Amino acid sequence: MPLMTGEEYVESLRQLKPRVYALGERIESVVDSPLMRPHVNAAAMTYEAAHLPGLSELGSAISPLTGKRISRFTYIHQNTADLVTKVKLLRLLGQHTGTCFQRCVGFDGLNALHSVTYDIDQKHNTEYHQRFLDFLRYIQETDFMIDGAMTDPKGDRSLSPSKQPDPDQYVHVVERRPDGIVIRGAKIHQTGAVNSHQILVMPTSALRPEDADYAVACAVPVDAEGVILIFGRQSNDGRRLEHGEIDQGNARYGIVGGEATVVFDDVFVPWERVFMCGEYEFAGSLVERFTCYHRQNYGGCKAGVSDVIVGASATLAEYNGVANAAHVRDKLVEMVHLSESLYSGSIACSAEGTLLASNVCLPDPMLANTVKLNTTRFIYEIYRLAHDIAGGVIATLPSEQDLRHPEIGKWVEKYFGASAACTAELRIRIARLVENMTAGTALVESMHGAGSPQAERVVLYRQANLEGKKALAKRLAGIQDGSWHLRGQ
Ligand code: SF4
Ligand code: FE
Repeated sequence: MPLMTGEEYVESLRQLKPRVYALGERIESVVDSPLMRPHVNAAAMTYEAAHLPGLSELGSAISPLTGKRISRFTYIHQNTADLVTKVKLLRLLGQHTGTCFQRCVGFDGLNALHSVTYDIDQKHNTEYHQRFLDFLRYIQETDFMIDGAMTDPKGDRSLSPSKQPDPDQYVHVVERRPDGIVIRGAKIHQTGAVNSHQILVMPTSALRPEDADYAVACAVPVDAEGVILIFGRQSNDGRRLEHGEIDQGNARYGIVGGEATVVFDDVFVPWERVFMCGEYEFAGSLVERFTCYHRQNYGGCKAGVSDVIVGASATLAEYNGVANAAHVRDKLVEMVHLSESLYSGSIACSAEGTLLASNVCLPDPMLANTVKLNTTRFIYEIYRLAHDIAGGVIATLPSEQDLRHPEIGKWVEKYFGASAACTAELRIRIARLVENMTAGTALVESMHGAGSPQAERVVLYRQANLEGKKALAKRLAGIQDGSWHLRGQ
């Protein structure tokens, strides 16, 4: 079905039988698991985005491949306007859900593989690009959600994949057969994996000739034989197993995307779903392009989530009776400034995108990496300011059960109401939203999601053209030692 609704997406997950574990238990139904359902609801919003008035223009697009209207999340960017549209869509979805809706990772994997499979074919006369286009058509027609699986466990970071004492620390090919390959290893931090239909495996770093078996990109159904998913914990996730919903903060959509470790215990992949197998010299460009697309996103989704945090902070200030205090207004303005700065960066890297040989548009890597690096600071600062405005109450509130308790509820009601603008329940609801949205897991995600700050710094250093900048300075200083040029000149 080219454009599923949110409900149809949920129902489609019921048809799958992935092997999922959480808190030591086998999970029979991802959509019925209280631990996972909020993430399913958040991902379902990416499906609703193709249908809702006001969102559908952004959330859907006409596929050049099929000629049909498809989800934006299965689309290949044709130009810079498409890249800008993506950022706008992510901001709206961030505002709507207040969390990670997970589907961008597979979206970015598709766009990265579009150009890299083309480039491999040009050099090696292989048929990866056509295979990829066949897979893309399948995804656009089924509207499946894809987990973009890049991050390997990595073992000892000082050793390359093939030098690891345990060769499975990076996903690798263990067998080549006439009908396909067998892969072994694991991918960690996999956002939305348990509620995806397919897993798109990609290498996690640039590779050398001796690492050729690790140069593998392929697509695997989430419930393929040998795939095991181990669901990760999040701050306050045990509250989902309690009665009530206030203490969860954002009970409907959850906090951050649900992340899982995906184990590939000798998984067979037919050749038609293999998009790189041994072409180690292309692993680096696949990683760079994928991360460029994913880092582009962070001024979109995080600005949307920050809009919610700003709104929650302003509401809480109002409830506390301090909305007109000058220092509170200053802090709110600071939060808005930081969030809009992130958004500007995402729009800028999109507007400065370039068309690659396969006719897919790539954001400007320098600016995309700058957005993500800013995210690792700005979100911490936005959340710090939210904590400042909220006050210590977000760390010490009684539970919803105490609020509802027949004997002590009246005390909670009496002492947590603050100003006449609210009841205790209203104030507790907003305070819990701030507490949960800014809790540990969300902060760490803004630091390491889409790559750690150091990964962004490496790209900035590589692309900074320091020689060109030195030449600029020397020219003005009257030092003549050669030519000069800057990016774009
Ligand atoms: Fe999408 Fe943002 Fe979640 Fe990444 S962190 S998957 S860009 S919503
Ligand atoms: Fe992320």
